[in-house]
Amino acid sequence: MLTNDQLAQWDRENFFHSSTHLAQHARGETPTRVIKSGEGVYIVDRDDRKMLDAFAGLYCVNVGYGRTEIAEAISKQAHELAYYHSYVGHGTEASITLSKMILDRAPDNMSKVYFGQSGSDANETNIKLVWYYNNILGRPKKKKIISRWRGYHGSGLMTGSLTGLELFHNKFDLPLSQVVHTEAPYYLRGAKPGMSEEEFSADCATKLEEMILAEGPDTVAAFIGEPVLGTGGIVPPPAGYWAAIQAVLKKYDILLIADEVVSGFGRLGSMFGATHYGIEADLITIAKGLTSAYAPLSGSIVSDKMWKVLEQGTDENGPIGHGWTYSAHPIGAAAGVANLKLIDEMGLVENSATTGAYLLEQLTAAFGDHPYVAQVRGEGLMCAIEFAETKSPLGFFDPAKKVGYAISAAMAKRNVIARAMPQGDIIGFAPPLCITPAEVDQVVSVCKEAVSEVLG
Ligand code: PLP
Repeated sequence: MLTNDQLAQWDRENFFHSSTHLAQHARGETPTRVIKSGEGVYIVDRDDRKMLDAFAGLYCVNVGYGRTEIAEAISKQAHELAYYHSYVGHGTEASITLSKMILDRAPDNMSKVYFGQSGSDANETNIKLVWYYNNILGRPKKKKIISRWRGYHGSGLMTGSLTGLELFHNKFDLPLSQVVHTEAPYYLRGAKPGMSEEEFSADCATKLEEMILAEGPDTVAAFIGEPVLGTGGIVPPPAGYWAAIQAVLKKYDILLIADEVVSGFGRLGSMFGATHYGIEADLITIAKGLTSAYAPLSGSIVSDKMWKVLEQGTDENGPIGHGWTYSAHPIGAAAGVANLKLIDEMGLVENSATTGAYLLEQLTAAFGDHPYVAQVRGEGLMCAIEFAETKSPLGFFDPAKKVGYAISAAMAKRNVIARAMPQGDIIGFAPPLCITPAEVDQVVSVCKEAVSEVLG
C-alpha cells in the first residue's frame, strides 16, 4: 500500500491529467486528489473525507456510486467473455440487448445504435455519417457543420472544433475549417434589453439562417446542439428555441444532431432531451448516462431517414469503412444493460423531474434576490447559479477574480462538490439522479455558506 506522500509524488512525476494546469501540478503547487470509494451521492477520498458529489463526477454517475447490480453484471461478463468485436456482423448478448433497450427508449424515428467509448468519439462517428450520407446522396459539397458558441461536444480534432469554448481551441489550431459557430441560446447574456425569450429565440434562428445563406445552403450539412447547453454554462433553451431552429434547418435540408451525452437517460426529467423539447433529430449522441460511467461506452443513434441511405451506401460501395476495436465492448454493454434496468427500477427519470424541481425551487429561494446573482436556472437535475457584479445593467466580475472557482472551493471545503463552469462565474449542479430532498437541502445550505464567505 502506497503512503499518501508516495502517491502524490508518483502523481506529479507520471500522470498527465485532463484539463489541468500541467506546470503547477508537476511543481506540486496544486493538490493531488485521490478518490478511493463512493456510495450513493457520496465519494470518499484517501484521507477518509466524505463529500457529497453534486456534480455526479462529470454529470455521469447518474445511478449514484456503489451500485452492486452493475458491478456484478460487469464481473459476470468479464468472467464469461471479456471481449469480442462487432466487425462483420459479430455481437454479444449484452450488446444486442442494449441496442434494443436503447431503441425502446429513444424517439420513434430512430433506427440503429453504433457504439463507441466516449462522447467525443460518438460525435466523431456522427460527423463521418453525415458526410457519408451526403456523398451517397450525390451532394459532395454539403459538408459544413454548424455548432454553437458555448456548445460542448468533445475534445478530439473534429469534436474539439464543434465545441464552442475558446479554451478548447486556443493553441490547438482549432476549429477545423469545416466547422462554423452560431449564437449561443443564452438569453441572459445574448438578448437585447426588452427582448422576450421568444423574440430572442427568433433572433437566434434569424442569425442561423443568415449564416447558412452566407456559407451557401448547398455547403451546410448539419447542425449540432445539446438540448440544454452543458459545459458552456448549464443554460436551458429560451422559449420557442428548438422549434425556431428546426424550421430553419428543414428549409435548407440540414441534418440535426442532438448531443444528448449529458441529457440522455433522465437528467432533464425525461428519458431524452429530444422528447422533452420536441427535437426531431437525425442523430442522437449518447454516453455518460448510458452506463452511469461504470464502464466507458457511448453511442450514435441513427434515424430511419439516415439509416436507409447508409444501407444504400453499402449496397453501392461495400461494407462501411468505420470501426473501433472496442465498439460495443461487452463489459460496457453489460454495464449499460444493468444501468438502464436500474434507472427504471429506481424511478430515476421521475426523481430527476421532481427532485430537480425541488433543487431549482430551493436555489431560487436562497439566491433569487441575492445582489450578486444574475440568474438561477435549470431543468431536471441540471441547475446553475450565475454570479455578476451588477445586475442592471448586467456587469460580470473581472475573470481574474475567479469568483466561481472561489465559491466552488469554499463548498468543497465544506464537503460538497459543485462545479465552477469553465466560462463565466457559474456554479453548476448535476447530482446523481438518486439524490433526495434532504441531500438537496445539504447542498443548498453549504452553497449559501460558501457564497457568504466569498461575496459577503
Ligand atoms: N458531448 C457533451 C454534451 C458533453 O458534455 C461531453 C463531455 O462532457 C462530450 C460530448 C464528450 O464526451 P467525452 O468526454 O466522453 O468524450
